[in-house]
Amino acid sequence: MLKKPPLHIHLQCENCGNIEDVLNQEIIFEYLKINQLIEEDRKCRIYDMDIMIHGLCRDCIDSPKKIIVQSY
Ligand SMILES: [Zn+2]
Repeated sequence: MLKKPPLHIHLQCENCGNIEDVLNQEIIFEYLKINQLIEEDRKCRIYDMDIMIHGLCRDCIDSPKKIIVQSY
């Protein structure tokens, strides 16, 4: 097997706009397994994966009064 494809997972806070990188190895491993499933299903090759997760960061959850945007 070739080297693991690069994987970037970001969490963007819909309230303050902060973007955090998700670096947890266990989570990354799970996403890489999804890559493999997609490659098998689509008979394709994935080189890169850029995931943007939208939600609220910990700070905004801890301080509800700061919350401007609840949902779309
Ligand atoms: Zn926030």
